Amino acid sequence: MQITAALVREQSAPFTVETLDLCDPRGDELLVEVAASGMCATDLHGRDAYYPTKFPKVFGHEGAGTVRAVGAQVTEFKPGDHVVMAYPWCGECPNCRTQRQTYCLHANKLKHGGTRADGSTLHSQNGKPVYSAFFQQSSFGTFTIANARFAVKVRNDVPLEQVCALACGGQTGAGAVLNVLKPASGDGIAIFGVGAVGLSALMAAKIAGCDPIVAIDVHNRRLKLATELGATHVFNHDGRAEVASDIKKAVGSVRYSIETTANPYVFREAVDVLMPAGTCILLGSARAGTEVTFDMNHLQNGRNVRGVIQGDSVPKEFLPQLVDHIVAGRFPVERMIRYYALADINRAAEESAKGKAIKPVIRMPR
Ligand SMILES: [Zn+2]
Ligand SMILES: [Zn+2]
Repeated sequence: MQITAALVREQSAPFTVETLDLCDPRGDELLVEVAASGMCATDLHGRDAYYPTKFPKVFGHEGAGTVRAVGAQVTEFKPGDHVVMAYPWCGECPNCRTQRQTYCLHANKLKHGGTRADGSTLHSQNGKPVYSAFFQQSSFGTFTIANARFAVKVRNDVPLEQVCALACGGQTGAGAVLNVLKPASGDGIAIFGVGAVGLSALMAAKIAGCDPIVAIDVHNRRLKLATELGATHVFNHDGRAEVASDIKKAVGSVRYSIETTANPYVFREAVDVLMPAGTCILLGSARAGTEVTFDMNHLQNGRNVRGVIQGDSVPKEFLPQLVDHIVAGRFPVERMIRYYALADINRAAEESAKGKAIKPVIRMPR
């Protein structure tokens, strides 16, 4: 079938909205009419070929939509179901077999390879292949093919243009708190960087009853929103070297911290504010080769530092819980969303890079 999608013709080129051909779903796949897709930094890193990438390519990996057709072996979904498309995993490697599928050994190929796992392409134009299958979904288009294994059915009384933001950034931030740290009520947490991932962590920390909840950022507008969403203390980092000692002066050391900025000096500060036996989680995606230094004596006192991908989430369990939190008003994801038409996708990318849009969501044309 013919679809409308945002195409990137070569590395760092602007998105162009074009007509493409999309194949039919295979036995284990769904045809999804995409309602909306969040845009996350990884889409722009993909466009800029941070990872080995073939062009032309369709990006987008925070898609939500309505199932329009299902393959013969699919029993979990039917046409009309609302779905969020989550990250892919192989299902067979040592990590996938032991419920560590966010760390699938084949994740890079499945997310960035541009094809299905078997190398087949899903999109084409004038008979020539177009690479897609970004995170096995390529959601910047009016329709796409999703594998049933990575699709998550969600209740249909929540707007798809809100739940799409949970697919990557939302579950990354919220999962780091609710699945990994599992704070007790009254545990202190400091969140470095309150973009979409940091604010999702913050909303989850509020759900868990964390106190204090400290937010650190360089944009006052984001810090104001962090306060409205539950931060008890905010600090404008503004390049100041003493922010860690300021936090300790104001609230003491904290049990937990979260690093979302991918800056080595901020990561160091996130570890410096921990109390003994505290844990810092790294969520910020730095380029390969980025190094950081820690004080060995400080670390030895029971402090943990670990990286987390996609909030250690099992999406079919975790995303419906987050959707329930949205409905209950505890996870007001819409507060961080700014909507764009597909035709304005380049403006969304620009305003996201400048920090003007915290979570851009692209609405697909009907
Ligand atoms: Zn795997
Ligand atoms: Zn993402």
